[in-house]
Amino acid sequence: MTHKKIIITIDGWSSCGKSTLAKQLAKALNYIYVDSGAMYRAITLYFLRNHIDWTHTKAVHDALENIALDLVYNAKSGQSEIYLNDENVEYVIRDLVVAEKVSDVAAIKEVRQFAVAQQQQMGRKRGIVMDGRDIGTVVFPDAELKIFMTADNAVRVERRFQELYEKNPNITIEEIKANLELRDYIDSHRDISPLRQAEDAIILDNTNLTEKEQFQRALHWAEQKLAAKNPA
Ligand code: C5P
Repeated sequence: MTHKKIIITIDGWSSCGKSTLAKQLAKALNYIYVDSGAMYRAITLYFLRNHIDWTHTKAVHDALENIALDLVYNAKSGQSEIYLNDENVEYVIRDLVVAEKVSDVAAIKEVRQFAVAQQQQMGRKRGIVMDGRDIGTVVFPDAELKIFMTADNAVRVERRFQELYEKNPNITIEEIKANLELRDYIDSHRDISPLRQAEDAIILDNTNLTEKEQFQRALHWAEQKLAAKNPA
């Protein structure tokens, strides 16, 4: 009998450590990891670079026709990196310039349709861990394991600050705080696929958990779901 794979979705607020957990789970289970936020960030980068007026549907439609996104595995880092029209943009999309606009771009219906169609295609064989905002609610409503992550605001701001400060020592904690609050607000109030917890999601508050503790907890849930899917 073949071993059946599951889909794991990880949604939640900005900078809760979703991608850290998703990568660890994917590695442990030998599954594909997809950072759906990177897709919205890469689209935003394209819009900014090409001065696309995203308030106009036709401009958005035409721009999306010229965007090809790929996830390419980098053996050196052991991770998938995102390519925008054959250019590796994995690092440049983390810039605050992109973070400041991504939630506006991600609220556009055509942009979401474009990204969601590709995400669903990636998960058609299951065996995938995807993190984002609407993965358990919209992209894979039938996922076996849905995790909704949360953490105290101050903890999230501090974590993101540490991460970005290494690359840009001019960045301030106030800028980071303002950006996280703005993104969380836009992401949870938009009309299409707002950030919300799926009814069948398990909440994971990692304010007081170490990375290892949170991983062990989530891996245990995944193992339970796998056992249910593959009865002995
Ligand atoms: O996960 P990350 O913080 O990189 O996501 C960047 C932005 O992309 C989010 O603030 C949100 O606006 C958007 N996003 C989304 N739906 C997803 C993933 C990300 O709208 N599934």
